[in-house]
Amino acid sequence: MTRAALNILTVCILLLSRCCDANRKLLVFLIDGFRYDYMDDLQNLDGFREIVENGVKVDYMTPDFPSLSYPNYYSLMTGRYCEVHQMIGNYMWDTETMKEFLIGTNSDSRLPMWWDGSEPLWVTMQKLGKRVYMYYWPGCEVTILGVQPTFCEKYVTSPSEKNLTDSMESALNMLKSNKADMAGIYYEKIDVEGHHFGPRSSEIQRAIRSVDRAFQILNQKIKEKNMRDDLNVVLFSDHGMTELKWMEKVIELEKYIDKSHIIKMMDRGPVVSLWPKQDKFEEIYRNLSSVDNMNVYKKQEIPDRFHYKNGRFVSTLTLVAEPGWFITENKANLPFWNNGTEQAVSWQHGWHGYDNEFIDMRGFFLAQGPDFKTNFRAGPIRTVDVYNVLCKALGIKPLPNNGSWSRVECMLRSSAGAVRAALIYSCLPLLLLLLQH
Ligand SMILES: [Zn+2]
Repeated sequence: MTRAALNILTVCILLLSRCCDANRKLLVFLIDGFRYDYMDDLQNLDGFREIVENGVKVDYMTPDFPSLSYPNYYSLMTGRYCEVHQMIGNYMWDTETMKEFLIGTNSDSRLPMWWDGSEPLWVTMQKLGKRVYMYYWPGCEVTILGVQPTFCEKYVTSPSEKNLTDSMESALNMLKSNKADMAGIYYEKIDVEGHHFGPRSSEIQRAIRSVDRAFQILNQKIKEKNMRDDLNVVLFSDHGMTELKWMEKVIELEKYIDKSHIIKMMDRGPVVSLWPKQDKFEEIYRNLSSVDNMNVYKKQEIPDRFHYKNGRFVSTLTLVAEPGWFITENKANLPFWNNGTEQAVSWQHGWHGYDNEFIDMRGFFLAQGPDFKTNFRAGPIRTVDVYNVLCKALGIKPLPNNGSWSRVECMLRSSAGAVRAALIYSCLPLLLLLLQH
């Protein structure tokens, strides 16, 4: 073989090994309650700005209904609507077993029945023999369809900024050393501050800057560890947040219905699930139909666009408040009213869960890495669209889902397969020609 042929062969092998997804890794961040416009002031957010310049930003991401955490965690990881994956609320009740799912960590919430309705991405990855590391990700400790991730740092209430940066360091090391193919990190502080102080508060600004500092460190570490060509990073939230003037905008159900006629009530706030006694059902429905600032739906009346009504755990009556309104049994049950004095605890100033088309419920989506275009601004997407993007970045075949490929295709570079084919077609003939001489 001539020296020139040898050189070309070396270049070809090098290019083929660099271009393609054989060793490509994925790091995802789920930033709870981060509204789409929280990063509007990019000039003062160096971490976010660098990611936006190096990658893709969508205008906003419309959550699945209800715009609550658990339903959207699962829509993000399955690409399916709530009525398909079955995780329809932060609080659920199963009429057959009488078991309850409660946001947080009650032991019944880990029962497979809540989770086995669809296969999340990390389970598919494990089934394919790949390794997933998850940090504080709600549900990573659950055995889903018989599978757990390779590593799960269990969810704790509101992980600290140090938890976040330590998780980043660990995830990058695991990905770099080929111990992990995918890592997922969950962070809750933005949601917590948004609830407590509202989406326009100085406290939320401080929390955003703290996440930004963490992302500055992330960008720095990716460079230091020389991972820019092999690592895709995707960041998103589950929903947004709206201001809650709950002292004025409370709907007290006990003014309209008799509590003893209700078998079960789950959750309070924007969406409430009710199971009235059968002989009182029509009366309760009629009474609630006249209440201002909310809608009451029988199961089959729930709008199709919510993709919610066919869920297995959906109640016989579903109440949905108008934006900014809060449904509860009575004010006395809320901490503020319990406390009795106006100066007492300012309980909550932000909430989410409303109609998913309500602007304030929108979340964000960013991505950077070898599979994504740089400095690319894309139109809006929906929560269910994210799954296809993640599968593409991981080089795996997505399961059937409700996401739209046409909404996300624009943000990806031409596929690695096409690049590989182009290289083979341009390199090989040249090489053969040289070998013949
Ligand atoms: Zn929340």
